[in-house]
Amino acid sequence: MSLMNQQIDVILREYDKIRTANNRIMDLRKQEVYLRVPKIKEIDEQIASESVNWLTASLDGAPSDIAVLKGKLAELSSLKDRLLKEAGFAKDYLDPVYTCPECKDTGFIDNQKCTCFRNKLIKHLYDGSNMKNAVPYENFGTFDFSFYSDIVPEGKTLSPLANIKKAVEKSKLFVHNFDKEFSNLLITGNTGVGKTFLCNCIAKALMESGHSVVYQTEYELFDSLKANVFSKDDPEAGSRYDCIAECDLLIIDDLGVGFNNSLLNAEFFKVLNERLLTRRSTLISTNLHLEDIKNNYSERVLSRIIGSYDFIEIYGDDIRKLKKISGGQSNGQAAGKN
Ligand SMILES: [Zn+2]
Repeated sequence: MSLMNQQIDVILREYDKIRTANNRIMDLRKQEVYLRVPKIKEIDEQIASESVNWLTASLDGAPSDIAVLKGKLAELSSLKDRLLKEAGFAKDYLDPVYTCPECKDTGFIDNQKCTCFRNKLIKHLYDGSNMKNAVPYENFGTFDFSFYSDIVPEGKTLSPLANIKKAVEKSKLFVHNFDKEFSNLLITGNTGVGKTFLCNCIAKALMESGHSVVYQTEYELFDSLKANVFSKDDPEAGSRYDCIAECDLLIIDDLGVGFNNSLLNAEFFKVLNERLLTRRSTLISTNLHLEDIKNNYSERVLSRIIGSYDFIEIYGDDIRKLKKISGGQSNGQAAGKN
């Protein structure tokens, strides 16, 4: 079962639980009302039997009977409303209880996903992404360009500010075309220039549109690959690996020192390569130069990246240092590793 189908399956089971819990509330309310106003129980029984008569008359095509029964049912229902009100209950106290009245807790309206279903899906995607804490604050809307200088540094044609604006536009385009064009991104730049923040912006935007995103630092990826290779019988290791292999976007943040293990380097290549073959996008951020990628990982990894990734380079001052000088904590930009 694909990662997305697994999540949908879990959500459908959540709806089952919601319906069961709401039915229980309804039953308890009924018991409470019947105990206090036994007459309402009688009326409910009458309504049930007249409804059966009404159904029979409809099937028999007896219009005069239908009209009479309709009148009776209306009378019983208004009597019930009056008794409920007199006993101090709300008019809708015995109505079906729905957490989402729009879809009546089915998750669907006319075969389309209800808003509540989409919200659940997004929540699951966040939970599965390994980036629950960062994403709410780090998104395209909170990207702070004021950390970037407009002075063109030596050896560059664009100022850090003009460059980051281009980088953000390119990232937005990556998100915008995500379902139409298969592509991968390599974001390079020194420590503290905002690489992680940009990764989080992309992740947030894609999760909001219902895509599964998995975020891994190099260390976490190392751990996941190791567990998959050396703990074959551990189902958790297997499902972690499945998430890495099958998510819509895999983010590997802060690729750096390499795995220092030929078996894990081979596994790493396998992940990148399989994602390319199955046309699932990968986003890598690193402060390494291409030559270092070859040295720290392998020539094969480098060749896949060169052949199949679009490059974004970010440069400028270390934002964390700038923040220390200004004493500012305006947002989490570069608050993490990059
Ligand atoms: Zn709903």
